[in-house]
Amino acid sequence: MPSFREIVTPETLIRPEIRALHAYHVPSSSDMIKLDAMENPYLLPTELRDELARVIADAQINRYPDAGAQRLKQRISSVAGLPAGVEVLLGNGSDEIIQLLALAVAKPGAVLLSVEPSFVMYKMIAAFTGMEYVGVPLAEDFSLDLPATLDAIARHRPALVFLAYPNNPTGNLFDADAVRQIILASPGLVVVDEAYYAFASASFLPSLQQYENLLVMRTFSKLGMAGLRLGFLAGSRIWLEQLEKLRLPYNVGVLPQLVAEMLLAHHDVLLRQAEQIKSDRSWLYERLVGTVGVYAYPSEANFILFRVAHATRVFEGLKQRGVLIKNLNGGHPALADCLRVTVGTPEQNEQFMAALQASIHQTI
Ligand SMILES: *Cc1c(COP(=O)(O)O)cnc(C)c1O
Repeated sequence: MPSFREIVTPETLIRPEIRALHAYHVPSSSDMIKLDAMENPYLLPTELRDELARVIADAQINRYPDAGAQRLKQRISSVAGLPAGVEVLLGNGSDEIIQLLALAVAKPGAVLLSVEPSFVMYKMIAAFTGMEYVGVPLAEDFSLDLPATLDAIARHRPALVFLAYPNNPTGNLFDADAVRQIILASPGLVVVDEAYYAFASASFLPSLQQYENLLVMRTFSKLGMAGLRLGFLAGSRIWLEQLEKLRLPYNVGVLPQLVAEMLLAHHDVLLRQAEQIKSDRSWLYERLVGTVGVYAYPSEANFILFRVAHATRVFEGLKQRGVLIKNLNGGHPALADCLRVTVGTPEQNEQFMAALQASIHQTI
């Protein structure tokens, strides 16, 4: 056989920064109490499930989706109470919107800045899109280190700043005044990522019209629609019309559009579930604070970050007892011996607490 070329390998073809990445790991969770991914633990009420079945039965899945998704966007605007003049861009989850934003500004040398520890996708997507990434450490209590952040902004002139509000995985809301100073000092776009808005006491949506470089991103994943994959970006038309050009035309399918439209007409049902989760968060927080060997951080989200003496052993102990949470030990240095638990149903929370106490006891 004549040979025309060298064998092609990933080493020669794939960009080195992609080869250096670790794929986002999703652990298997079959038969476990799943408290690792900030999902809403509740099913929909029976009437809504019946309505859902009818909506799906009538769906025209032989057709491409409505690329403009006008009806869904209108529903989102009214449910979120968007100020007049604020427009909406839809994403296949808000992860896709982070990627759209990065793709749009990724000139050679362009910088994406965030704080650390925060949502890991900001850094990963910077790598996907060839952007430089700068991570400014948070203070020890996970509040913003404003002087360090402003200094990094002045030095690196980021095209994009991401602030998760509340922050994941720490659960806290940053000081709103500090966020405002960051917006004012930023030479590029500042995206306030409100993935946990349903569980939080504050929002930057009402501030959208005050700052020409502010965008607010939300997802419905944490409110009970993680399986649908739907997020949105709210902001001024001048930015969204540029991003629309990069959005693949059918990124949100027929079924997610119809189902989200129907569910958002019952937003009150979802918000009641969120209220239940917030009250169970208080219960869980008090129990964690009252547990010897546990330091728990206050949370405005649907999860709680906590520290123990031997996080990985406690995590494994929980797994053996059928409870899956998130082990953050070994990731960012500020998260040494940290674990993150999603607030579940009251029964799941009880089972988690019992398993946690047994696991801590076992490691002593
Ligand atoms: C979960 C999460 C997202 C992504 O949610 P999608 O499911 O992709 O919509 C974005 N930002 C933060 C901070 C998150 O925790």
